[in-house]
Amino acid sequence: MRKLSKEAFVTMGVCSKCKKPFGITVDLADERRNEYVFVWAFKINAEQAHREGYDSKTVHGGISYDPEYPGCPYCEEQAFYICGKCGSIVCWHGDREVTCPKCGNRGVVEEASSFDIRGGGY
Ligand SMILES: [Zn+2]
Ligand SMILES: [Zn+2]
Repeated sequence: MRKLSKEAFVTMGVCSKCKKPFGITVDLADERRNEYVFVWAFKINAEQAHREGYDSKTVHGGISYDPEYPGCPYCEEQAFYICGKCGSIVCWHGDREVTCPKCGNRGVVEEASSFDIRGGGY
C-alpha cells in the first residue's frame, strides 16, 4: 500500500448492492492541483466507524484511484457516486438513476470532475 501523508483521512461509503458500510482511505495526491486519491477500501460497521472518530473534515477536489485501490470491499466495483443528500460515497454500477442505500434519496448521476468528500460521516 502506498505511504500515506498526514493529510490522509477516511470517508465512509455504502455498498449499493448489500447496503453495508465501508471505509475508504483518501489521501491528498497533489496539493497544488487539489487532487485526491482513493488508496484503500475496507469493511467496517457503523459502530466501529463511530468509535474510531474519524475526522469530520470536508475536502473538495478531483479524485483518482491508486493502482492498488480494490474498489468496494463487498462487490469490488471501483466506480462510485456521491449522494447529493447525505454525502455518502456509493459504489456505482452504471445506472443513470440511483437510490442512495443510506438515506433513500433518489437522483440522477451526473459526471463531475471534482467532488466534495466528507471525512467520517457516521
Ligand atoms: Zn459495492
Ligand atoms: Zn444519501
